[in-house]
Amino acid sequence: MAKVKTVFVCNECGYESAKWLGKCPSCNSWSTFVEEKIVKNTDSKSTPIINVTPTLLKDVEKKETTRMKTNFEELDRVLGGGFVTGSLVLLGGEPGIRKIYANTTNM
Ligand SMILES: [Zn+2]
Repeated sequence: MAKVKTVFVCNECGYESAKWLGKCPSCNSWSTFVEEKIVKNTDSKSTPIINVTPTLLKDVEKKETTRMKTNFEELDRVLGGGFVTGSLVLLGGEPGIRKIYANTTNM
């Protein structure tokens, strides 16, 4: 059996609420809540149907990808040669150490 639950989600920050709110308590944006329906499968016996054929690692084809160099030798090495197009990399570090942000979607 599937159970449908309705939640309201803020378009700006993703805050969830059981009821519609005019102002988001998380990001203080106005009229950003949209209704979303979540379908929960309550039948514990059912298993998801996964139509995937496993591939042996030795059979995986290696593809060359375009990489964007950061000009930080150490970071490029950790990233395997730079940012991959469309990838997301989260860097952590102390405040003020000059973390960088790069959008690689339009390379
Ligand atoms: Zn919000």
